[in-house]
Amino acid sequence: MSLDDQNKTQLLPEERQAEISALLRSDLPERRASCRKIWEKGGKAKEIDTRKPAWATFATANPVRTKDGAKSIGVRGCIAIHKVPCAYKIETHGEGCSHCGLSLDDAGLTYVPPADQIYAAGTAITNITNALGYTPPVIEFIPDGSSLNDDEISPEARTGIFEIAAKNDAIIKFAIESRPQYITAQEIKRLLSLLRDDQSLEIYIGLESTDPFVLNEIIKKGFTISQFENKIMEIAEGLTPEEKKRFSFCTYHLFKPPYLGEKESIEAAVAMGSQIKEYEAKTGIHFSVKYEPTVISDTT
Ligand code: SF4
Repeated sequence: MSLDDQNKTQLLPEERQAEISALLRSDLPERRASCRKIWEKGGKAKEIDTRKPAWATFATANPVRTKDGAKSIGVRGCIAIHKVPCAYKIETHGEGCSHCGLSLDDAGLTYVPPADQIYAAGTAITNITNALGYTPPVIEFIPDGSSLNDDEISPEARTGIFEIAAKNDAIIKFAIESRPQYITAQEIKRLLSLLRDDQSLEIYIGLESTDPFVLNEIIKKGFTISQFENKIMEIAEGLTPEEKKRFSFCTYHLFKPPYLGEKESIEAAVAMGSQIKEYEAKTGIHFSVKYEPTVISDTT
């Protein structure tokens, strides 16, 4: 466990941590080898047409407030474009966070022209609009990795994609994902200025667990809870009260990660819910949680 997380509240008693650590020591070599093998295979994937969306779909969502104060329909469009893979996946040679089987199709990409990415994002929104008969009020732009890492999505591509969102009257909230180290108050301000005044921006972060042992040892997230907390305080200090009204954070919580029992998982999920209320009080920024149940997906 990292030094800066040593004083955090532990959900699991020490003997339970020791038991899981022993299991991890025996499981990890095989898991690591398998991740690296799958990653290398993904890097040799077929040719990709980067002007086409990676995927686009829609799902239910919490309604959002329209500019006249009414509640919107509870639907979100979820879109992804092709990009170079998540930097953390690259850095860890395909291991990434322990639950993640993402980024495989794009594993061999080293560059995608921003013009292609902007075109693909626009096409994805059009495709969802055609399928539903309307554009959903919430658009989640969620290609794997960090949309605020300039090496993954360039500022030019981000600008073009946000301009598309700003021109679409039906879109009220635009959401993106990022690992904490790439988020800055300056870029949040810039992105808010690209959107209309009646639109909001949300950033999703894979905090996954407020328990340091679960986050660092089981999920192998690659950032600590203290680093996350320092980042949100830095953002809070850099935004004006007006900007905070149009900006929010959402944390993912991995529900029932490997090695945790059902009772432990429920306690971890409750702890995340309580913790984000504290973050909200400390920062003056709205927080919510997306509970993501663990699934066993293809190639894992
Ligand atoms: S940060 Fe996201 S995309 Fe990257 S390895 Fe972790 S879960 Fe996967």
